[in-house]
Amino acid sequence: MGLTPPDGAVGKLCRYAELLLEQNKVMNLTAITQPEQVARLHFLDSAAILAWPAGGGAGWLSGKSLIDVGTGAGFPGVVLKILEPSLSLTLVDSIGKRVAWLENVCKALSLDNVRCLHARAEELALEEGFRDAFDAAVSRAVASFPALCELCLPYVKVRGRFIAMKSVESGQEIRNGENAVKQLGGRSLPGWDYPIPGGEVTHRLVCVEKIAPTPKGLPRSWGKIKKAPL
Ligand code: SAM
Repeated sequence: MGLTPPDGAVGKLCRYAELLLEQNKVMNLTAITQPEQVARLHFLDSAAILAWPAGGGAGWLSGKSLIDVGTGAGFPGVVLKILEPSLSLTLVDSIGKRVAWLENVCKALSLDNVRCLHARAEELALEEGFRDAFDAAVSRAVASFPALCELCLPYVKVRGRFIAMKSVESGQEIRNGENAVKQLGGRSLPGWDYPIPGGEVTHRLVCVEKIAPTPKGLPRSWGKIKKAPL
């Protein structure tokens, strides 16, 4: 992917994989259980965000504030932090047990400047300090694109970016989200279909720039987001 991992990053990724597969025996964290698959389908997949060609080069997230919405076992956020240690990272998930485990992972890997928050994304975005506040928001495998826009774009500051990690079959879903992007103060940027090295799988980054602050009244409750996407 043309990325150069910083010193110590490969060791940290290996330890992260060990912790993930060990904990996965007692907690539902991932369906992927082969180390080689973890490397490709979790680590390299997450790393694609740094390699996004329209991002402006491998260092485009250097020194930036990033929120990972619905991070689960830490994807893509923890991988991005290991590969770009200057990030100020916020991990959010609605499942408390996963967030508690992530806190331990961040300690074990000596990752500083990381917050692990147990919260629902649509509620946290209404709190002071979170709205229109981050340089970038990322999310993988959390909700359909229109709903995801409402969960993620409110966090992004004007001129910041939201990146959704999707499958290459997401064309219709993305078109369905065009109105949500506009209503939430965004505009679409060039995305990227990327082959994950070492296999046949191609995934997609869907990219949005925030050009206006989040309008009052958004995001709505999860019930409303789900029932009537923007
Ligand atoms: N992003 C991770 C990945 O790609 O491996 C986890 C994906 S998992 C399928 C979806 C995660 O999103 C779950 O951990 C779930 O708890 C979280 N989630 C779903 N809706 C959420 C919400 N409204 N706010 C916060 N977390 C949410």
